[in-house]
Amino acid sequence: MKEIILLKQGEMVLKGLNRRAFEEKLMGNAKRRLKKYGSFKVYTRQSTTYIEPQDEFCDFEGAWEAMGKLFGVAGLCRARACAKDKDAILECVKEYLGDQLAMARSFKVETKRADKTFPMTSIQLSQYVGGELHDAYPHLIVDMHHPQFTVHVEVRDFDAFVHANPTEGAGGLPIGVGGRALSLLSGGIDSPVASWMIAKRGVIVDMIHFYSYPYTSPEAKEKVLDLARLLVPYTGKTCVHVVPFTKIQEELRRSCPENLFTILMRRFMMRIACRVAEKNGIQALVTGESVGQVASQTLEAMACTNAVCTVPVLRPVVGMDKEEIVRISRKIGTFETSILPYEDCCTVFTPKHPRTKPKVEELVEAEQNLDIDALVEEAVAGIERVLLDF
Ligand code: ATP
Ligand code: MG
Repeated sequence: MKEIILLKQGEMVLKGLNRRAFEEKLMGNAKRRLKKYGSFKVYTRQSTTYIEPQDEFCDFEGAWEAMGKLFGVAGLCRARACAKDKDAILECVKEYLGDQLAMARSFKVETKRADKTFPMTSIQLSQYVGGELHDAYPHLIVDMHHPQFTVHVEVRDFDAFVHANPTEGAGGLPIGVGGRALSLLSGGIDSPVASWMIAKRGVIVDMIHFYSYPYTSPEAKEKVLDLARLLVPYTGKTCVHVVPFTKIQEELRRSCPENLFTILMRRFMMRIACRVAEKNGIQALVTGESVGQVASQTLEAMACTNAVCTVPVLRPVVGMDKEEIVRISRKIGTFETSILPYEDCCTVFTPKHPRTKPKVEELVEAEQNLDIDALVEEAVAGIERVLLDF
């Protein structure tokens, strides 16, 4: 009989009145991701979303992997459908979960019965299947409170389903319930992780990248687009705004003190990102900054970049150690790409002795001879938009 996927909802179960809207988003997001794997039926009953392949051409493994990256899902499991008959159910458990039962030390059977016309109660069915399994696997101890392995049986409208303990899902909330943010994506380790963390909270994430051709190579830009592509299975459809930044950097180098260069450059990035956010109805920026990691990430430096921002700046990795960020980056699969050795526009003109405690007033003074609005306008006008989808 056919195999299906069950998604257990996470935190959204707590959302009271909004619950229905959250479920709709989750199902819509699941459907969009499943499209390229064939024809699947998606529906929700009692906080569980069911993913059923409709024919034998479906790529079930592909679908399983995609659902493991779907935000809003706390746990997921594969289940086998069988006839609604106690012995068919028992045979299905033995065949489908036999290997896992053979490895376990203790177990129990838990039954949910949606079809109230089924001739046994949930407890009777659990007792029957549990008793027979105990005979078939005599090494197993029945443990109702802390079993190592739980056999789940569900008797539904048309079929019965059998499944084991769920594996961990991507967690968080369904993309689209939390508004829209613009993530400053560099080629480093931190900003892809920061983008992922905000998307996890149900926020649609678009990206913005600043590049300094010919000081940085086309490969450096391609690397950043690759990072964005690696995030798409989590974030869904996203737009990467690629901003030409060379002219601003050359202007800064010509007319501003070298030791303030990095922070002045960061202020321009923020100004441009805010413009893009405002033009596109985006509510916040996201950066991969972490307190104290480098000279431009002191509290003083953050105050100086915040001073030019017109939308809130979210810094999800602000309190994390590099080690912790690297761990997430490995888990989500961006690490190997992040460490490829291409230069970033920030590293091209790095000052020898950057100021770690800049003051807003001295930055304003350093910017005095620049036509800030014109520089921002020109950069925004030169933006190239790259749309990425599954
Ligand atoms: P990352 O690992 O994300 O590159 P980092 O530790 O190298 O971060 P910085 O280079 O100081 O730190 O950059 C801090 C943040 O500024 C980045 O996390 C990113 O959000 C943003 N940023 C830096 N360079 C760029 C760029 N070229 N384009 C877009 N955003 C950038
Ligand atoms: Mg960087």
